[in-house]
Amino acid sequence: MALETARHNAVLIRGARIVDPAAGRSESADVAIVDGLIARAAPTSAYVIEADGMILCPGLVDMHVHLREPGHETKETIATGTAAAAAGGFTFVACMPNTTPVLDNPDTLKLVHDRSREADRCGVGPVAAITVNREGRELTDFAALLEAGAVAFSDDGSGVEDDEVMRAAFQRAKTHDALLIQHCEYKSISAGGVMHLGDVSRRIGLPGLDPRSEEAMIERDIALCRETGGRYHVAHISTAKAIHMVREAKAEGLPVTAEVCTHHLVLTDEACGDADPNTKMHPPLRPMGDVDACRAGLLDATIDCIVTDHAPHRAEEKAAGFLAAPPGIVGLETAVGLAARAMIETGLADWPAVIRWFTAGPNRVLGRTPPPIEPGSPADLTIIDTSRRWTVTPGTMSSKGRNTPFIGWELIGRPSCTVRRHQIALCR
Ligand SMILES: [Zn+2]
Repeated sequence: MALETARHNAVLIRGARIVDPAAGRSESADVAIVDGLIARAAPTSAYVIEADGMILCPGLVDMHVHLREPGHETKETIATGTAAAAAGGFTFVACMPNTTPVLDNPDTLKLVHDRSREADRCGVGPVAAITVNREGRELTDFAALLEAGAVAFSDDGSGVEDDEVMRAAFQRAKTHDALLIQHCEYKSISAGGVMHLGDVSRRIGLPGLDPRSEEAMIERDIALCRETGGRYHVAHISTAKAIHMVREAKAEGLPVTAEVCTHHLVLTDEACGDADPNTKMHPPLRPMGDVDACRAGLLDATIDCIVTDHAPHRAEEKAAGFLAAPPGIVGLETAVGLAARAMIETGLADWPAVIRWFTAGPNRVLGRTPPPIEPGSPADLTIIDTSRRWTVTPGTMSSKGRNTPFIGWELIGRPSCTVRRHQIALCR
């Protein structure tokens, strides 16, 4: 979506319904912002945002994105990725460490902070690597990385396979009250697979990826969590069995949380039927039973939040065909509309629930306490036009990546604006 940004000292948002799931609030009221803070009234010279019939909520959060910088700026930069985030209604994203160099040292984290501050489109919290160079062998310096602003630790793109290394990571996480985010995949089990192993992979003749590669790692990690007490978050959970294990772990009182990607809520492995490389992801698209389990997991709070796993790639990389193309799709600009498609248009949930999965849910997992929507608080807000019908079109995207299977989809509901203190981003 095209983005227009401007700075204003005084803003009046008129007519919106305020939905703040963390505060249990849902009511219609005008909101004034003066000098970046929510105020009781705005001067008559204020910039007015007409939001009649729209929802005003705390700024949306996506705790799983790939901004690609440093090292892969031909796919995305921090400036273009955070513009895509703002266009998708997000005011904060957590970015994964599989950059070059890897986010495994304070200097690289500082670069991410500096570039995102310069771009000033969206808040960015770097997720630091669990192991040096994401090689799964030697733990990073958690204390120094936390000091440098790491919001969590993950080797995303790979799981930490070695039991002893992961046990040590849990112990270090416990010592520092840090969050471990695991990309759950034993490559020894998934090797060679390019899509979910099942009826569709057999029918079209593409190598299948055994769901056990995801489930076995979650099983091992829950045992380590029980043993050590370290905080553990399952990235992009995607199978019914995996969700069942997290449900049991939560019932047991373990500090386990989970996220689901928007694409795993709306697509099945049938979408891979014509071998479009834009349907190739890790974890792969699953059968309908797993999609239903993902939706049910959100509804019963087994799954805490919705993420995009925004993974931009160059067109020529995706043109390499299903076998050779890198996995992943862009997601920031379609997230809200797809979540609405999966959870609201199906009659399963309402807008306050969807907003909770993009605000209170991820904020709790990350230990963030965003400012409440009340006078004196810094403005950190998203406005969603819940009745807006729009068609996903590559030409208007702010991300450098165009790798999405959702081109041409008509979605209902779209962010129209984000406000971060003085900074207003209008999504056109
Ligand atoms: Zn991952």
